[in-house]
Amino acid sequence: MALQLRPNCEYCDKDLPPNAGDARICSYECTFCADCVETKLFNVCPNCGGGFVKRPIRPAQEWRPGVSLEKRPPSEKRVHLSRSAEDIAAHIERIKDIPPERR
Ligand SMILES: [Zn+2]
Ligand SMILES: [Zn+2]
Repeated sequence: MALQLRPNCEYCDKDLPPNAGDARICSYECTFCADCVETKLFNVCPNCGGGFVKRPIRPAQEWRPGVSLEKRPPSEKRVHLSRSAEDIAAHIERIKDIPPERR
């Protein structure tokens, strides 16, 4: 099992290719851009309530046998938020002042 490298921000649909420096993920691999995490989500995952970290960049080159972008390709399935804007706003309001390690 490898980390799913999802192709877009669930919030604004920005493309987040495997080498994107501004991709952020929660522990469930929910994927957003850094701008949405900072200015829209306030470090609260709309799906699980967890915080975010920078998504690591998978090497394009096969430095070790079997492990590279070619051998473990990124996901092509674009993911979009399934909840309403009102629901997400209330969820964020309830959680954002609690640090991720205490949620
Ligand atoms: Zn975004
Ligand atoms: Zn999440």
